[in-house]
Parts: sequence; structure tokens; C-alpha cells
Amino acid sequence: MPHILNQQSLKTYNTFGIQQIASHFCIATTIEEIKEAVFFAKKNYIRFDILGGGSNILLTKDYDGLLIKIETKGKEIIYENDEEIHLKIQAGENWHLLVMYCVQHHWYGIENMALIPGTVGAAPIQNIGAYGKEIKDVLLQVNALCIDTMQFHTFNNEECEFGYRDSFFKKNTKKYIILEVTLRLKKHSVLHTKYGDVQKIIETEMGGVYNIENVANAVIKIRKSKLPDPNLIGNAGSFFKNPVIEKSQYDILKKKYPHIPHFEVNDGIKIPAAWLIEQCNWKAFQEGEIGVHHLQALVLINLGNAKGIEILQLSEKIIQSVNEKFGIHLEREVNIW
Ligand code: FAD
Ligand code: NAP
Repeated sequence: MPHILNQQSLKTYNTFGIQQIASHFCIATTIEEIKEAVFFAKKNYIRFDILGGGSNILLTKDYDGLLIKIETKGKEIIYENDEEIHLKIQAGENWHLLVMYCVQHHWYGIENMALIPGTVGAAPIQNIGAYGKEIKDVLLQVNALCIDTMQFHTFNNEECEFGYRDSFFKKNTKKYIILEVTLRLKKHSVLHTKYGDVQKIIETEMGGVYNIENVANAVIKIRKSKLPDPNLIGNAGSFFKNPVIEKSQYDILKKKYPHIPHFEVNDGIKIPAAWLIEQCNWKAFQEGEIGVHHLQALVLINLGNAKGIEILQLSEKIIQSVNEKFGIHLEREVNIW
């Protein structure tokens, strides 16, 4: 049974660096400990939730219940042939370290997602993605614990119902705990460098050498140049999703804003939320302990001792002003607790 701590400060357990208290808190290092912690909460009729790296949550109040932080570790090759490798990873492994491990072994498929914070277990929840790749592109299966029945259940890729920053697990919170994720990675070079400045950096700074290390390093370089490091400035990455609007709405907006950036996607036209927020003059906004990052308007920041509720209120003001100016409703990507 994992050791249960009472009245645990969560400040160092969320990348926003928000100070709130969990009435009960434990760290589970094995699947058995995860199950024991859940049994404990059920037996004592206390609410419980799962915490990974805390990089996609905003704490707005103290947590009254048992917070189970997943720190299970381990990676195992469960199948390989000349073409591909199936790697099963425990939920508590760090995502970025996993990416670098795969880069080192020349296993292709997740290099574009270097430097995304958090755990492997949380990655399928919002179908993490960056630089044109998402975990859904390489995910073979997810092993999860059903909270109602306490039975293990395996989801294949289709059953995860992945969408843009969305999945079955995100839509059905508190029903399953993700325990293991199996990825299908390629052994032969398949690189995706068309997105953003990746190609430009490889051409200008890496001698035009296209290999897995250079793709990961280019992504890391771009990310470091425009995203605040949560160890220095509290944040949870993009606070909002990029909205996808109907072509007809885009056509109307284009007449009024001829330079509106846009990307055609399957279900409509994606407009970068950062541009919309910038047009409403929020970029670099600061008030008291809260702000909008000066290089990336999608990122809300804690300047020191912000309260979660203040950041939530700022996000509401941003949503309102973007709605008033463009008639587009921004959705939050970060989970509000
Ligand atoms: P947490 O924040 O701990 O948890 C998030 C949610 O998942 C919570 O609801 C939690 O209960 C649930 N959860 C966590 N683990 C499990 C589990 N094992 N089983 C069931 N539920 C679970 N995201 C992207 O998609 N792309 C990016 O490029 C990106 N860049 C970022 C950059 C920065 C600087 C930061 C701070 C964040 C960024 N994010 C990005 C968001 C975040 O890193 C991801 O969403 C990440 O997957 C969250 O992992 P976590 O372990 O920190 O999850
Ligand atoms: P960016 O490259 O400046 O691009 C801004 C926007 O344009 C995003 O909406 C992005 O969509 C879209 N875009 C750019 N090139 C595209 C293409 N070729 N096809 C389709 N859409 C395209 O974005 P950024 O803020 O610096 O982030 C870079 C990448 O890291 C993005 O993929 C972003 O999602 C990811 N990221 C995510 C978080 C997070 O917390 N979720 C934080 C930081 C960075 P997409 O977002 O759909 O890619």
C-alpha cells in the first residue's frame, strides 16, 4: 500500500506552480499500488483522481480527496521484426525521456513530440501532438484499469476514439486509469519535417542532414526559443485549443481580415488561437501575478504567486474578447480542477 500523506502541498506537483493542498496524496510506483490506492479511496468513501506530471491542469481550489500520483516505470519490447518495434511503456515514465530513448535507438515516430512535458500515461488522454504528429499516429494499444469493475481492459487505437486534443479517455474522465501504453515505431527512416521551421533549422543549422536526431533537436530548439520553461515561469503550455471553423465562417472573416492565418483540416479551417488572442491585444498582458506570455499568446503564465482562479478568470476574459471580435468560441485545453 503506498504511503498516504495528509495535507500535501501541490505547488511542486503542477507546472503552473499553483499553491493548493490535497487532503490526501500518495505516490504509486507499481500497478499493484495504484489498485491499492483506489481500493483505499473506495473503502473510505473519498474521492480520488490521478496525477501525472501536472502539466495539463489548473488548480483552482484545494483538492478534497486522494490524489494518486503515478510513478510506475519500465519499458519492454513486446514484438519486433525488420520493419517495426512494439514498445510497451509504463504510465509513469516521462514522455520526453521516452522520446529521447527512441531517438537514440533510431525508432521512428515520436521525435516531433520531443520536449512535451508530462507522463506517458497522460499522453493518450488529450492525444498529445506537436509539429504535425500526434500520439494516435503510433499508438497500438492502451492497457487501463476500469475504476468501476477494477478489471484490466485493453483499448486498441480505434477504441481510443482519438480526435484533435481529444480521446475516449478525455470524454470519459474518471472511468479508466491508463497503466501502460504500447507504441508501434518504425525501424526505417520516416521523417516529417514539413511543419513550421523544422526544415529551415535543419537546412540552415544542421547542414541539411535529415536524420532522427536532427529532427528532435530542431523541435527542441524551436520549442525552447518560444515556450516558457515551467521550471522558471509557471504555465501549462497552450491554454486553449486551436479552433476549427466552417469554411463559410472563414470566408466572411477573410473579407474583414485578409491576412488571417489558416490551415485546411479534415473538418474545416483551423485558425491559430494565438493569432486571435494577439489581435485582441492580450499578448504580453500582465496584471498582478498573472499574464499572457510575450512570445506565445496561447500560453497563460503564473508570474510568481498567482491563484488558479485568477488564471481561470483571465482565460474567461480572453474567451469573451475573442468571441466578441471574431465570433469564435475558444475552448480550454487545460483541465480545470
Ligand atoms: P497531468 O497534467 O498530470 O494530467 C492531465 C489529465 O490527465 C488529468 O485529468 C489527469 O487526471 C489525467 N491523467 C494523467 N495521467 C493519467 C493516467 N495514467 N490515467 C488516467 N488519467 C490520467 N500538449 C500537447 O499535446 N502538445 C504539446 O506540444 C504540449 N506542449 C506543452 C508545453 C508545455 C511547456 C507544457 C507545460 C505543457 C504542454 N502540453 C502539450 C500539455 C501537457 O504536457 C500534455 O497534455 C501532457 O500529456 C500532460 O501530461 P501530465 O502527465 O502532466 O498530465
Ligand atoms: P506554430 O508552429 O506557430 O503554429 C501555430 C498554429 O498553426 C497551430 O495552430 C498549428 O496547429 C497550426 N499549424 C502550423 N503549421 C501547420 C501545418 N503545416 N498544418 C496544420 N496546422 C499547422 O505553433 P506553436 O505554438 O509554435 O506550436 C508548435 C507545435 O507544438 C504545434 O503543433 C502545437 O500544437 C504544439 N504545442 C502544443 C502545446 C500544448 O500545450 N498543447 C504547447 C506548445 C506547442 P497545431 O497546434 O494543430 O499543430
